[in-house]
Amino acid sequence: MQTDIEIAQSATVEPIAAVAEKANIPSRYVEPYGRNKAKVHYNLLSDDIFSSANFDEPASASAKTDVSASHDATATPHAAPTSASNNADGHLVLVSAINPTSAGEGKTTTTVGLGDALRHIGKRSFIALREPSLGPVFGLKGGAAGGGFAQVVPMEDINLHFTGDFAAISAANNLLCALIDNHIHQGNALNIDTRSITFKRVMDMNDRALRQIVVGLGGKANGFTREEGFDITAASEVMAILCLANDLHDLKDRLGNIVIGYTMDGKPVCARELQAEGAMTALLKDALKPNLVQTLEGTPAFVHGGPFANIAHGCNSVIATKMALQLGEYAVTEAGFGADLGAEKFIDITCRTAGLMPDACVIVATVRALKMHGGASKNELATPNSAALEAGIPHLMQHLNNMQRVFNVPCVVAINKFPTDTPEELQLIENACKKLGVTCALSEVWEKGGKGGIALANAVVDACEHHNQTALTFAYQLSGSIQEAINTLAERIYHAAGVTYAPKASKEIARLEELGFGDLPICVAKTPASFSDDATLIGAPRDFKIFIRDVKVSAGAGFIVVYAGNVMTMPGLGKSPAALRIDVDDSGTITGLF
Ligand code: ADP
Ligand code: MG
Repeated sequence: MQTDIEIAQSATVEPIAAVAEKANIPSRYVEPYGRNKAKVHYNLLSDDIFSSANFDEPASASAKTDVSASHDATATPHAAPTSASNNADGHLVLVSAINPTSAGEGKTTTTVGLGDALRHIGKRSFIALREPSLGPVFGLKGGAAGGGFAQVVPMEDINLHFTGDFAAISAANNLLCALIDNHIHQGNALNIDTRSITFKRVMDMNDRALRQIVVGLGGKANGFTREEGFDITAASEVMAILCLANDLHDLKDRLGNIVIGYTMDGKPVCARELQAEGAMTALLKDALKPNLVQTLEGTPAFVHGGPFANIAHGCNSVIATKMALQLGEYAVTEAGFGADLGAEKFIDITCRTAGLMPDACVIVATVRALKMHGGASKNELATPNSAALEAGIPHLMQHLNNMQRVFNVPCVVAINKFPTDTPEELQLIENACKKLGVTCALSEVWEKGGKGGIALANAVVDACEHHNQTALTFAYQLSGSIQEAINTLAERIYHAAGVTYAPKASKEIARLEELGFGDLPICVAKTPASFSDDATLIGAPRDFKIFIRDVKVSAGAGFIVVYAGNVMTMPGLGKSPAALRIDVDDSGTITGLF
């Protein structure tokens, strides 16, 4: 059997200009990066390109109508966006999943395969994905360009340096850090309390040795000594800002709003007071432009921005999603890990901020992960075990109920078929869905590409075209207190018995409310393995409490980060990291990437 990288390397990849032309992107917006990648200028969104004569298909006059352009879109339920049947605006399809095993359950694979399958049934589809981070690429999970015959290419580039966005984001972030320490060294005119600095340095690598460090050692010339630490770039506020910004002006404004820490008398200090936002924006001006690539079948895909969904808000840039909606009839995007983190944050943060709403949600389920949620041991997931699978079904149903009852988004279950699944096991999931009236489709896109996803594509189109969007809702309102929002999420999405707060967290919540940040949405950082904050609590657990260890404001991104359980913002490498198996031969061909 061919590996992902072997399939990708044997693909015929069209020149990116041809992909852009087929996607109806006027060439003046396309900035090629080599042969198979391009950046697309964000002005495509603000210019009224679809009225121009060189556009060869009648399409929408504007991107999807903003339902809640302002930051105080608190109404639940909120006003309806455009009618679901209005094909002039693209339909937004969100792909999320059940809580995954550590190998991943195939959300990216399904997103890519669904995008291809929609083309097979005659729909102009566009894909919007996150950029992979080097942490997982060299760690346990591997790349994030899909798998099998449902991949975006060039997969080596996408998984490694791509167009340099992660480097730009790390540089902009670390410039602000250098300015903070230099400001203190040069006399600390702002009276920054060096013990209260919350803004950390970042690097796109799993490196546990950098989690907690001391900087400024070695004498007077090296600045003031203080405790510091690195986060992974994908968890940084600058990454979130890039993903949530509407345009360059908004990007700069949000960068200026970053709260880096507090003064000795407890006042927040923002990046603007350090005059950092101009230079940071200069570093990010090209990174803000979505990257255009293609699938193995030539479907256009934006791969842009890469926040992790366990510790950040988790989805690709708003600009890329809006472009995909503007250019296609169907925009397919991914929000991982499980729907409790990815889909929740996609709706409560991204959609609320950007005025988007999914028309349908695909929940990817696998036999092996459901067996894990039913109690099967992790090294026996390839062995047939109907009892464990049956016992895992309530886990899937809880995600579906959340999406349908809390958010009012119609769902389709995609059973991502693995070579080890038996027909009986696949049938068991289908029967369970049928019994509960949930639409379900077997997806074979990993094995067969787009043609393996036609049933799924038809089910998704049906869900988009026949649903009435008048009652889409958010999980919590912004008008309540921060604790109310956290408690509501814990109750409605995680089904917890309650929330306990560390004294440090309660104190910071009180301060943030006093400072006027109480109306921001919350971004929960917790384990992706469970509904709870404990990775070992599988299935649909009850009678557990969520422990809130700490909170922090990301005032530029526009949310409050809530750290649950022992989640970490700088991962480490395992005993046998993927890096040990990656190589490149004398001709420059890479092996071992997956
Ligand atoms: P996610 O986005 O949910 O993390 P990915 O789509 O990245 O998951 O897939 C994770 C890994 O699993 C990839 O290496 C991919 O090739 C593999 N994979 C996905 N679907 C299948 C499948 N149906 N059969 C076998 N391997 C699969
Ligand atoms: Mg993925």
